[in-house]
Amino acid sequence: MSSIIRVLSELTINQIAAGEVIENPASVVKELVENALDAKAQNILIEIHGGGFLRILISDDGTGMSEEDAPLSIERYATSKIKEAEDLNSLKTMGFRGEALASIAAISRTTLTTSTVDGIGVLLEVEGGKLLKMEPAPRKRGTTVDVRSLFYNVPARKKFQKSASHSATEVTKVITHLSLAHPHVGFKLFIQEKEVINTAFSPEPDLLPALNTRVKHLFEEELFSSVVEVDIELSPYKIRGYIGSPSHARINRTGQYLFINQRSISSPLISYGIKEGYGTYLQENKHPFYILHLFFPEHLVDVNVHPQKKEVRFAEEQKLKEILRASIRESLQKKIEPPRYAFSTPFPTPTPDYSYPAYKMEENPWRFKEEKGEDLPLFLMDEPLHAIGLYKHYLLLDKEGLVLVDLNRAQARLLFDAHCKKHKEMSVQRLLFPLSLQFSPADCMHLSAHLEEIKKCGFEMHQTAVDAFLIEAIPHYLDEEDLPSLLQKILDLIERNVFDHQEVVRRTLSFANTHKKRFVLQEAISLYQELLKSSEPDECPLGKPISRCLGNNEIEALFFKN
Ligand code: ADP
Ligand code: MG
Repeated sequence: MSSIIRVLSELTINQIAAGEVIENPASVVKELVENALDAKAQNILIEIHGGGFLRILISDDGTGMSEEDAPLSIERYATSKIKEAEDLNSLKTMGFRGEALASIAAISRTTLTTSTVDGIGVLLEVEGGKLLKMEPAPRKRGTTVDVRSLFYNVPARKKFQKSASHSATEVTKVITHLSLAHPHVGFKLFIQEKEVINTAFSPEPDLLPALNTRVKHLFEEELFSSVVEVDIELSPYKIRGYIGSPSHARINRTGQYLFINQRSISSPLISYGIKEGYGTYLQENKHPFYILHLFFPEHLVDVNVHPQKKEVRFAEEQKLKEILRASIRESLQKKIEPPRYAFSTPFPTPTPDYSYPAYKMEENPWRFKEEKGEDLPLFLMDEPLHAIGLYKHYLLLDKEGLVLVDLNRAQARLLFDAHCKKHKEMSVQRLLFPLSLQFSPADCMHLSAHLEEIKKCGFEMHQTAVDAFLIEAIPHYLDEEDLPSLLQKILDLIERNVFDHQEVVRRTLSFANTHKKRFVLQEAISLYQELLKSSEPDECPLGKPISRCLGNNEIEALFFKN
């Protein structure tokens, strides 16, 4: 039998390897920007088009590459950063595997222009890993990598990519992290020619002043003005950065930026240590905002566990957790009064309006119909409604048994129909004190990309900072304090790619405060009559039954049991 085992070609190997290093456009951006940082760039420009699938351009003013090195850089396992495995123990650079450029070049059309001096450098054109052209080209000192048609020759990978707007958000997240990790370096990010991030190079050698300027630039002023500085050295560990005041804690972990030796990492152990430091300053279900830089001797941390170097292992886990707990606690105590438990918003919250504007769509459907001379629904003419009365928010009817109508659910159905089926405008309430809510810059991009749709559901809001929105009006049936959770639900819809108008209205209605309303009988009857005319009188928008009927047999069984 002939042999069926083959040694794969260099190109195929690179395409397979690309799958591990390059998941999506954001990972291309991360690898290329890290290369620029390793080349000691002071300014890095990032431009993306079509979410990065069409084009990613990264330009830096770093050391550049010589004519000899440039073609080597796109070879697999070609790196200037290590010579032997031993070097891994004292790694100071972001990259070392020598895979990124080769992988990117294997699955795109890439042009690399680089020079070690201002003047003439070299230009390389690579397509699907093949070097097509190499020629001298004018270039100031530095490197430009221009990646077009990402995944063009690996259609199977392209199929599994998320949308361009999702990808642009991921790129923004990557640059936000990198610019906080390297606060001295200037970053400019353009998405579709729109400037999204622009932070200047800072010659200031100390970390904290540079980080201070950066945080001020990237985050909302109100958040910035309340952060607490952390600057603690417990040899050999150093912890520096900013932690948010407890009142700026969030309902998720989006505001947590953690760096070890200037690499962005995630570590449940460290997050836990920090949260413990907040102790009773923080409500149980809240997550603190922080931007923390930890500096470690290289031998106490292993950053090479994860191929993209996001997870790390520590030599002294318990000690480290304790150091963090104590550092956070100490920094907070210097700045903040003892815990008060009631962490209200900085603004007085208006008392909830119990005179909830009831059932507003048609104040009196009877009159409305009569005036218009429309026919009354048949059932009303044939069989009059025998309303018995109200029990809590249930309307009791005598209708071939005892019918209980859940008026909250009925109201949700009518609001849903009015809004989604009849396209009536949702009546809104203006907030007495507009509410400023914080999100991660990426979540903010999600929200602003879907803002028009969200506004159609009865919200008035606009972005005030890379990470903040100001909410000025909300649907009349919502309570202000439910907004953070509701917007998180809406973000969840966006993340899961199931965002649409009806879903947003459904989520919004699930927070409706109709349960606070007290119905009067006449109003309940009108509501029920309107319900019967709706598209689905049996089910609320969340798919739950609106009414239940206890038949004669069931009622009798209650009495004749035993
Ligand atoms: P790694 O970063 O793991 O070494 P890469 O494939 O990302 O591997 O890059 C290969 C080599 O190309 C690097 O080691 C470096 O010498 C060179 N290089 C890549 N990008 C740049 C850049 N922007 N400026 C200068 N040199 C670069
Ligand atoms: Mg690299």
